[in-house]
Amino acid sequence: FLDDSTKVTNEVLHPTITINFRYNIQLIRNLSTQELSVVIYNQNNLSQPNEIQILDLLLNLLLQIDLVMGQNNTSLDHVEGHTENLQEQNASTENDFQFLIGRLEDLPNSARRLFSLGKQYLTTGSKDGGAGEDNFCSLFKVYHPPQTAREHSPDEQGSSVQGVNSGMLDTPLRKSAPLHHFQTFVQWKAAQDLNNFYSLCLPKRQNIYLQPINAFPEFVHSFSLKSQSLELGLFETVQAFLQVFFCGLEVLTLPPVTIDDTKEEVRTRVHPVTENQQLCVNDLYPFLQRLLPLNGLCIMGISWTDIYPEGHNFTLGEASVQHRAASVSFGRFEFKDFNASTYKDIEQIDGAVLWKLLKSSSHELCHLLGLQHCTFFQCAMNESASVGEAMDQPLFLCPVCLRKLQKACGFDVLERYLLLQKFLTGVADQMPDEIKFQECLKWLDKCISYLNS
Ligand SMILES: [Zn+2]
Ligand SMILES: [Zn+2]
Repeated sequence: FLDDSTKVTNEVLHPTITINFRYNIQLIRNLSTQELSVVIYNQNNLSQPNEIQILDLLLNLLLQIDLVMGQNNTSLDHVEGHTENLQEQNASTENDFQFLIGRLEDLPNSARRLFSLGKQYLTTGSKDGGAGEDNFCSLFKVYHPPQTAREHSPDEQGSSVQGVNSGMLDTPLRKSAPLHHFQTFVQWKAAQDLNNFYSLCLPKRQNIYLQPINAFPEFVHSFSLKSQSLELGLFETVQAFLQVFFCGLEVLTLPPVTIDDTKEEVRTRVHPVTENQQLCVNDLYPFLQRLLPLNGLCIMGISWTDIYPEGHNFTLGEASVQHRAASVSFGRFEFKDFNASTYKDIEQIDGAVLWKLLKSSSHELCHLLGLQHCTFFQCAMNESASVGEAMDQPLFLCPVCLRKLQKACGFDVLERYLLLQKFLTGVADQMPDEIKFQECLKWLDKCISYLNS
């Protein structure tokens, strides 16, 4: 940190990038070594920045550098102009696309084809979509949840962005704010780089751990799914699915643990209306964090008992990036849907229950890899206001979110879809009661033939 008056000699000073009006950052290239240095100017004699402000600066800096790197043959002198362009609504689609998806040159053809579909979000415009390329529409037009199955009309939905376009959820979502307001690939990567920077000196973390919590009824233990030559139990089935979904990372299941009630580590309550026991998810995060092995990237608890976040009635699943921990339950109770006279507890693991588990566990784990809710497309990472809504959302990620996951896990896009197809074919055959698995396979068929074409 230097004063404004400090002179840096023998180096070329490039235009200053102003970061959030507090500090100025200057990228300086040393002419003899070609090294790039960063000078952060403490403007207006502000007090020394605190840790959060430094993190914020670094994050923004990584973002800027990523933008610079993303431009071929562009000298640093153009940084400022480029940044300004991005902030204008009518910036060129190419620049926006790179901001949304990142650079694709080094990826295999099939992956480039898929990620290029992300452009559809930019070209659809801010009115209702639908005028897109045929390829795109046919790919992302599988999920047509019947209106009667929806529990909330668009007006009742809390999330404004999706609510606007809920009649056409199969199309790119309507733009509601400039691109940089949402988590694009470049923004996600800047945050991830910062995270990874801190763990440089720690053992490499590449395992995802599943942690069964407390007891499960007998029919959960006796569940069995045939997958090729194997017979998988319920947790093994979830683990196998996640292994394919997060292909490139290792997914492992830890031995079950029991919460010791006498220690009062995790608050429990009996919900006054449903009269069912619930665990407080906010207490589960530190509980799970303590169980995360050293080589663990993150940990996800699964409990038979429903969970609730502080101050709320119910949640199907939640994640805390800070704790590297998430938790999902079987989600039987949603307060607003509860009707004591018609209520029947889960008595077997059918297709609907399995769908719920696969859907919520993959969604929450994506959060732990830094993915925020998706506002670009109909996508597995869309925000949901109810369990019903969450269950109607796709199992698969849109091109923007998939790009983030691909970068985090390092998988080959086509190979992963082929593995998902293999696995879900087995599930769909043995769980014919759940139509959503069939729909997934139809989508995968289309997608795979598009990638191969
Ligand atoms: Zn979420
Ligand atoms: Zn998405």
